[in-house]
Amino acid sequence: MSPTRPLLGGVELGGTKCICLIGTAPDDIRDQVSIPTGTEPHKTLGLIAEQLGNWQGVHGKIAALGIACFGPVDLQPRSPTYGHITSTPKPGWQDVDVVGHLGAAEPIPTRFDTDVNGAALAEGRWGAARELADFAYVTVGTGVGVGLVVNGRLVYGFGHPELGHTRVARLAGDQWPGSCPSHGDCVEGLASGTAIAARTGAAAELLPVDSPVWQPVAHAIAQLLHTIVLATAPRRIILGGGVMQSRPQLIEEVRVRLLRSLNGYLPLEKLTGSIAQYVVAPGLGMLAGPLGALALASDANCSAANAATR
Ligand code: ZN
Repeated sequence: MSPTRPLLGGVELGGTKCICLIGTAPDDIRDQVSIPTGTEPHKTLGLIAEQLGNWQGVHGKIAALGIACFGPVDLQPRSPTYGHITSTPKPGWQDVDVVGHLGAAEPIPTRFDTDVNGAALAEGRWGAARELADFAYVTVGTGVGVGLVVNGRLVYGFGHPELGHTRVARLAGDQWPGSCPSHGDCVEGLASGTAIAARTGAAAELLPVDSPVWQPVAHAIAQLLHTIVLATAPRRIILGGGVMQSRPQLIEEVRVRLLRSLNGYLPLEKLTGSIAQYVVAPGLGMLAGPLGALALASDANCSAANAATR
């Protein structure tokens, strides 16, 4: 523990659970709790705000708050709906003002971003992409999301990228229509935990290794990685999330299919020595998401400190 590092609060809102933590850095997490996301956002966000308040009574006041949230979310600071979840298919969570609910009675520097962007920041700072200026973090869990870092910065346009909803070439012979309510057979509609459950009737972690569903799932993920490689030329792709975590063999299947799909067009293996070092699991494991919220809080605190000294 370092007395010189500011105390930070982090909240990762995920599709099934919300992780809250307080600490100064990954090696100094003072406490952490998990709260079910549920379908009543006001109740869930109320519990999170209460937890943050209780912790501050024990550990002291936090200098900044980071919120890493499932999307889509409004990240435009001048927008009247900044800090809101927007058009999520998640029941009850459309148009919810997350930042407004979690904002402290006494305002503190707060950074709000997507869960994948937060995880990408954390992996770049403490995990599998340290010292890499160009990389992608891909999560395959309840949904599919991508955080892109190019030239050392997260990529934004009018909002955050939504590459999880990319349409891809289907596995030959696979006619399943997909589960995305907006697009049917986009990558999220084919490969997310939600899609796997809709297709098989079982949660991903309960399916056998030789279930036929893994072929179209691996194919769709590899197709997404094909697009990412060609779009931003990342030096590494980190592939995490609950589905990947529950099926360790899946990442190798994705690597093989990615190489086959690229067909020698780009020398991926020359970049890192082997495809196994190009497409990798998160260095932070399942903590990539929660530590993403901490990374956002750290950035919020630094921005506030820099503004104060200008
Ligand atoms: Zn979609």
